Amino acid sequence: MPTESLRVLIVAKTHRAVGACIGALATDGRSLRLEAPNAAHDEHSGLEYHVGDVWEIEAAPHPHLTPPHVETVVVYARHKVNSGVDPIPVIERFRLPLVGGVDVLYEGLVQAGETGGLYVAERSGVPARSTLFWRPDRPLRLLESGVRLHYGYPSAGGEQRLTYVGFQEPLPELPAGTLLRVSLAHWWRPPEYPQEEQRCHLQLSGWFLPPAAEDDDSGLPPRAAPVPATPASRPAALAVDPGQVRDRLKDVFGYERFRPLQEEIVCSLLEGKDTLAVMPTGAGKSLCYQLPALLWPQLTVVVAPLISLMQDQVDALHALGVAAAYLNSSQTYAEQRALFEQVHAGQIKLLYVAPETLTRPEVLHLLDQAGVSCLAIDEAHCISSWGHDFRPEYRQLEPVRRRFAGAVCLAMTATAAPRVRDDIKQSLGIPSAGEFLASFDRPNLFLAAQPRTDGMRQLLAFLAARREQSGIIYCTARRQVDELAAGLKARGYSVLPYHAGLDDGLRRRNQRAFVRDEVQIVVATVAFGMGIDKSNVRFVVHYNMPSGIESYYQEIGRSGRDGLRADCLLLYSMQDVQMQGRMIDEGAEEERPGRNARLQAMLRYAQARTCRRPPLLRYFGEETAEPACGFCDNCSSEGSEQPQTDVSVAAQKFFSCVVRTGEAFGAGHIIDVLRGSRSKKVLERRHDQLPTYAIGQEYSAAQWRTLVQQWIQQQLLEQDMQHGGLRLTEQGRAVLRGKQPTFADLENLQAAGEKVGAGRGGQAAQLPAHDAGLFEHLRSLRRQLADASGMPPYIIFSDRALTEMAAYLPQSPQEFLRINGVGRAKLDSYGDAFIGAIVAYSAAHGLQPQPRPADDAQPPLISSSAPHSAGPRALEVGELYRAGHSLAELQEMLGIKRSTVITHLRSYVASDIEGSADIDPTQLAAACTLPPAVQAAVLAQFDAIGSERLAPVYDNLQGAVEYDDLHLLRLVWQLQQG
Ligand code: ADP
Ligand code: ZN
Repeated sequence: MPTESLRVLIVAKTHRAVGACIGALATDGRSLRLEAPNAAHDEHSGLEYHVGDVWEIEAAPHPHLTPPHVETVVVYARHKVNSGVDPIPVIERFRLPLVGGVDVLYEGLVQAGETGGLYVAERSGVPARSTLFWRPDRPLRLLESGVRLHYGYPSAGGEQRLTYVGFQEPLPELPAGTLLRVSLAHWWRPPEYPQEEQRCHLQLSGWFLPPAAEDDDSGLPPRAAPVPATPASRPAALAVDPGQVRDRLKDVFGYERFRPLQEEIVCSLLEGKDTLAVMPTGAGKSLCYQLPALLWPQLTVVVAPLISLMQDQVDALHALGVAAAYLNSSQTYAEQRALFEQVHAGQIKLLYVAPETLTRPEVLHLLDQAGVSCLAIDEAHCISSWGHDFRPEYRQLEPVRRRFAGAVCLAMTATAAPRVRDDIKQSLGIPSAGEFLASFDRPNLFLAAQPRTDGMRQLLAFLAARREQSGIIYCTARRQVDELAAGLKARGYSVLPYHAGLDDGLRRRNQRAFVRDEVQIVVATVAFGMGIDKSNVRFVVHYNMPSGIESYYQEIGRSGRDGLRADCLLLYSMQDVQMQGRMIDEGAEEERPGRNARLQAMLRYAQARTCRRPPLLRYFGEETAEPACGFCDNCSSEGSEQPQTDVSVAAQKFFSCVVRTGEAFGAGHIIDVLRGSRSKKVLERRHDQLPTYAIGQEYSAAQWRTLVQQWIQQQLLEQDMQHGGLRLTEQGRAVLRGKQPTFADLENLQAAGEKVGAGRGGQAAQLPAHDAGLFEHLRSLRRQLADASGMPPYIIFSDRALTEMAAYLPQSPQEFLRINGVGRAKLDSYGDAFIGAIVAYSAAHGLQPQPRPADDAQPPLISSSAPHSAGPRALEVGELYRAGHSLAELQEMLGIKRSTVITHLRSYVASDIEGSADIDPTQLAAACTLPPAVQAAVLAQFDAIGSERLAPVYDNLQGAVEYDDLHLLRLVWQLQQG
């Protein structure tokens, strides 16, 4: 491609999609339009140029040009040589402006349509070029007419108009004689008149004022605001009493109580404070601005990056009877125009906009007029180049925020990294915003991971118990997506694939079918799921190893949004890890350390044998006091093929007893000895004299039997086929000698007896038993209503609401209102249908209604600085330690890990139990095996950055000190502080 070197001055920058269309003058006087070679694909292109810049470019004429649009050149290389140059003298010298009325423009070919729109028609002749400069003989006035901004030229038959497409702040009037740039839009014919001639409409692409007066072409609000904007001072906080807020929660949204932090955020906003909310996916961010939006006098503008999500949110709000709308590039002109009128008339409470739409002059203008109470920014991390999802158009939100300085600002994200948080506040210009950090724990997600040995078999085993459920299966490779989807389909599952290789339309249809419950399962690459807020996703399976914990957590976060149990299964293999390692090696060098570290953390997570929650939460900078969640494969027997609790001490007792009795007896007799039985058989053989007599009281006989079964399965013990006597295997001897630990299945053990283990047993919302037949019946009713209204089913009612209905059988509107998720609007729209169905079903099946109990107290807010309360185990550990037992002894006695002992001890110290603060730090430090200099370095770190989080200390010490030691030294440090 032969190119030409040119030096150009940028004279115009106008909106085109998300990016910009650039006009320039070359030093030889040619007027050019600059286009990037990839302009068709890069919708952000052109934003980097500014009016008044001078660039050196290597360019070639565009291959396809239609007169009069003959100015476009493709820029293959370029660099900026200057900026801030005043274009007026250059224009005056090279492209003498036309002076006069509209009739001087475009060789006199300009005509006005019925409504005053100016255009050049094909039939009357095509002008030589599409751009020109003009000094009008009369002032041009800003017109408010529908969606686009127009400038009007006064004429006898009314105003003649040019559409304004520039980036500059609109001025209410452009005085006569102002230097303007005018261009022609593309060939067009009114769709309702197919016979009409083709025409190009006149556009005003910008104006040039003497430098001091205005030189801002950013398209963004002004250093000196030429258009009256909302007052810059913050309106007084809205005096709203908390009762009113709670009433709306039930009346409109149908919820009995707030989720953690929602109420705090709502109150902060109502007090007029800028707020940053960091909450995991599914925690309920939307409610934080949707509820106050009902109370504010003016608009709440919600900036959201994804069109699909906007539509869903607006549908959901409509179903609640809330006046909401969205504005984005997918709408037609007529739709936008109607919407503008509604906003003008104050009929809209919540307006969702894409960031690139928000920064268009006509939209800013509209909002100026309507007034903005709150600017809510979703996915706010997109503004930070430190985040994982930087979007340049988010950068333009800062001036928007300044423009609506009277509005309160809420930034929301699910990304917790402190650096990103700071960046969000700085970039939005809300440095002193109040921060609310929710716990990232999602207690209703059951977490499990298994090595992938026979993937399909494992997957089928998992799915077999979930036939009717909705879920997502993630794979890395497209081919695998197709294979798995086909495999599952062949086995009768309702399943569709989703990946970037499918064409757009098919992808959209598959996504839609999933959202609308028309298909149960989607097998997808990780591209799937962004912008879906379907609340009844019951499982997420990762068929391959994810690249890091952050993305993994986001993906599993798409399940269980309704608060009911959801299952997350990770199937991983070392091949996955190796493949990812290769991809990292092939990638950019500077990214390698970070990517490797993320992959390693992910692998550690997958292979962990302890509770899965602490490492996940620690990754998000959160500490848990609870060492075992009871709701992951490692804390319970569910979903796991591997036993998980360390029972080495019990095994040693048992095996020792087996050896001492000559490896000749069966399990029953050994258990009798261990439990101190005075049976005839024991006494006759004098087994009550053995050192192992009565040392195994901590388990019931049934629990010992369960353990024995597992030890036989694990081939630690073998059974004599003839006499049933137990013998140790080689491996069993290793366990006896303390050379090898052994693990057992805690949950089975619990089932077998009464003792052992603590867990919170899962914190999925506890629901009463419900009638499965009725649930199915209500589900199909929901489907019918959804189909009839063209909405996704979960917008009508969540699965959780249906479950409650099928449990409490509400028979009247009052009872129906008590169901979670039922507010006034839902009662009005669907009450009759659902109550009717429930009444009829209950009568036909003889079911007795039971009133829904009120929700119990709100769950405690989780914040990293909240004081720990000491649970029973912590009390036990603390008292035993004070009674003189060492950490090692406690570990042994209680059969728990060292870090768990320390965590309990810390809870104990932090509690207000008497004497709990008396523990001697020096004595505690003696348990640390690190050299004194290293200990001192760790303590110095706590001095410097505090002890809230261990991760920064770990990082600062380059990982040289293990977390176990950090836990211990932190406690030492805290005790030293008193
Ligand atoms: P996020 O934006 O944080 O990912 P959403 O705002 O989409 O989460 O909320 C997730 C789900 O939780 C939605 O289905 C929503 O209706 C539900 N939800 C939000 N707040 C409450 C509440 N206080 N009680 C019950 N359900 C709620
Ligand atoms: Zn756990």
